[in-house]
Amino acid sequence: RAKARGKNCYELYNPLQTEETLHAFQMEQDLRLALAHDQLLLHFQPQFSLTNQSLCGLEVLVRWQHPEKGMMPPGQFIPLAEETNLIIPLGWLVIEKTCQQILSWQEQNLMVPPVAVNISPKQLMETDFLQHLNQLLGKYGIAHEQIELEITESLILQDPENVIQRLNTLQAAGYRLALDDFGTGYSSLSRLKQIPLDRLKIDYSFTRDIGKDPKDEAIILTVIALGKSLNIEVLAEGVETQEQYLFLKHHGCDSVQGYLLGHPVASEDLTLPNELVATKGSV
Ligand code: C2E
Ligand code: MG
Ligand code: MG
Ligand code: MG
Repeated sequence: RAKARGKNCYELYNPLQTEETLHAFQMEQDLRLALAHDQLLLHFQPQFSLTNQSLCGLEVLVRWQHPEKGMMPPGQFIPLAEETNLIIPLGWLVIEKTCQQILSWQEQNLMVPPVAVNISPKQLMETDFLQHLNQLLGKYGIAHEQIELEITESLILQDPENVIQRLNTLQAAGYRLALDDFGTGYSSLSRLKQIPLDRLKIDYSFTRDIGKDPKDEAIILTVIALGKSLNIEVLAEGVETQEQYLFLKHHGCDSVQGYLLGHPVASEDLTLPNELVATKGSV
């Protein structure tokens, strides 16, 4: 193996690199254990309508309760999960736990808005993705419309025709589709026109600079206008300040998500409206 690398064979003896490899290997083993021993848990972040201030969705964000390192954010293990394909069992676990949680809320007569789950391109492109998804939702009696699948622009670049066909099938089966981190990738507008979407999520990096960078504000206005003309709902993520909130509301953005309105929290710390109360209130 050293020979095949030619001049770079000394790399094998680079102690730093060896350490890194060992670290990644250890993490991979830990992540396998995490999947087997139920160390992954879900947090939920609320999404609010700017039209009537009501709760209009929840996003599921996975956390790893690591036995030694404590609570780990997804940025610290999703990339490794992607590399090792563990993202596929991880993704299914997240969906199954989401279904269990929705069912539990429904059993408590709580109103559950659509729940958004981040889906890795690798998982979405698995041959039996739709069947597997239908089967899991069926197991818990969850309606397809209750689930929003969040995908990213990187997916569309891969194998556009195949991806578009798959997304059409998913939408026809009743699932909601959202394009996450919109504006950070480089999908073309003509591509955007071809993919079926219920929602565009404006990335945090644009929201962050409202009131600071007129260019970011211009981009946001463009995305809102684009959403209106394509009849796709627009949500801004990462809303942290009143100023950002008012800017988005004033310019006709449909919905918002961010620390200003609610951090991602465990299900116990989330308050959902009761069905009876909500019905009474609206009569
Ligand atoms: P994302 O889907 O874009 O999720 C939004 C991220 O922004 C979350 O980070 C959330 O905690 C954070 N956030 C929410 N509001 C604010 C705010 O007001 N300000 C700031 N600065 N940040 C805010 P988190 O939980 O660390 O997740 C990071 C990314 O990991 C997610 O980005 C998503 O791409 C990925 N991820 C999370 N859960 C899953 C999962 O179950 N499966 C897959 N494949 N990816 C996941
Ligand atoms: Mg997301
Ligand atoms: Mg996002
Ligand atoms: Mg983002």
